[in-house]
Amino acid sequence: MTTIQHFIDGAGVAPAGQPASAVYNPATGEVSAEVAPATAAELARAIEAGQTAFAAWSQASLAKRTQVLFRFRQLLAAATEELAATISREQGKVLSDARGEVARGLEVVEFACGVPELMKGDFSNQVATGLDVINWREPLGVVVGITPFNFPVMVPLWMAPIAIATGNAFILKPSPLDPSASLILARLWSEAGLPPGVFQVLQGGPKTVNALATNPTVRAVSFVGSTPVAKHIHATATASGKRVQALGGAKNHALVLRDANAAFAASSVVSAAFGAAGQRCMALAVALVEDAIADDFVERVADAARQVTVTHGADAAADMGPVISAAARDRVEAIVTEAAQAGAQVALDGRGFRPVGLEGGFFTGPTVLDFVTPDMRVYREEVFGPVLAIVRVGGLAEAIDLINANPYGNGAAIYTASGAAAREFKRGVNVGMIGVNVPIPVPVAYHSFGGWKDSLIGDFHVYGREGIAFYTQAKVATERWLDPDESPAASFNFAGGSR
Ligand code: NAD
Repeated sequence: MTTIQHFIDGAGVAPAGQPASAVYNPATGEVSAEVAPATAAELARAIEAGQTAFAAWSQASLAKRTQVLFRFRQLLAAATEELAATISREQGKVLSDARGEVARGLEVVEFACGVPELMKGDFSNQVATGLDVINWREPLGVVVGITPFNFPVMVPLWMAPIAIATGNAFILKPSPLDPSASLILARLWSEAGLPPGVFQVLQGGPKTVNALATNPTVRAVSFVGSTPVAKHIHATATASGKRVQALGGAKNHALVLRDANAAFAASSVVSAAFGAAGQRCMALAVALVEDAIADDFVERVADAARQVTVTHGADAAADMGPVISAAARDRVEAIVTEAAQAGAQVALDGRGFRPVGLEGGFFTGPTVLDFVTPDMRVYREEVFGPVLAIVRVGGLAEAIDLINANPYGNGAAIYTASGAAAREFKRGVNVGMIGVNVPIPVPVAYHSFGGWKDSLIGDFHVYGREGIAFYTQAKVATERWLDPDESPAASFNFAGGSR
């Protein structure tokens, strides 16, 4: 049995912690490895190595940091297949989607390669007679990233390249459900020439997270995961004086208006609902469909969803793989049963679907539920599985009210041919990321990613300029230079003669 290592101070470390937990291949249900939580001693070593590495890395020239980032970019691109296979084996998603995940992470690395421009400060000449002001940003120190199971490569890459480019030492605590990709990233950073201790990996679950979130040396915590844990991390880490960005769960709605291109709306809602088996924080879980077109839309969606090929993620024919665990599958199917009992109409039933030869895997098929109402659990909770809930609505105003009544505010999409309706929707919804005829509006790396309300606890989005701001602190110097023979009088007035 392979035991997944930590990566501390530039080297893989066999874990001494207990108890170990199993890492599954969700497509077969077989155990592929085990992972153990970091011990207090391992954590202390990583913190110390991070602190030592920070002292030198924060002083490394921008040119040196940029060279490492460019090399990492090349190595990451070259390792796409290795990473995709690892993601697919432990997370279950199909290979093409896993490659897409690597590509979205690569984008952030490319953004971070521009760090000299991004770190440039401002200078004001002669703010008062003889006085100049300059400001710039400096890194924080040892920072931590805690990441979820659904994007074991992309989400760490939302954080680490920017933290490292800006001069910090970064410790990744990946999900124990799919931890192997973290070690590939560590290897690639080393091969790129990053000094030991600047990128480290500690395996584990809540105990490791809590120890990191309260460690006095850690300056900032980036978290991505479910909302209850996001709130816990935010409360714990801010109480110990850290900067925190905690991205939580989601319940993303798509509104389909009667003037939308129906064929495009149906096919893109299906791909956004069932891609990655619905285990994306930007998955479309709810379609709000205008009454007048609802019968036709449900038929189109159910037809398209019936065509989704569900099998082993490594199978080139697969559109959708399994969910992450047997418990996740059972929960998803129980929510569907509850909805049907509460009056939802099951337009397509994925319950009990088990691909032939993969009966031990954690599969459930695409499910489409019509006539869902907001009081049902399938609407209220984040399902995080391949279930599309259809709620029939009277029009735009009712849809905006529903979206705004939802505690989550990650993404929302509108399908329409009307610029006026799209504008009203964009301005009216209390949501961080909006798609107009775009189902999954994950911003490119030079914009920033983040939701509102229970989808983001904290003040900063991840990556983009907000990422640079999160991982740095501002410094401002007000300067006067005198000739040795000048003798201006100092002022006792607070304005200090500044005018
Ligand atoms: P999770 O909250 O269970 O775990 C996330 C991380 O927190 C993991 O590293 C885990 O080990 C750790 N953790 C779990 N329970 C903990 C606890 N009690 N105390 C301290 N740490 C704990 O999330 P998950 O199941 O891995 O991922 C799925 C969730 O992540 C979904 O809710 C999804 O919407 C969300 N997500 C959000 C975004 C976003 O950008 N908003 C992106 C991806 C995933």
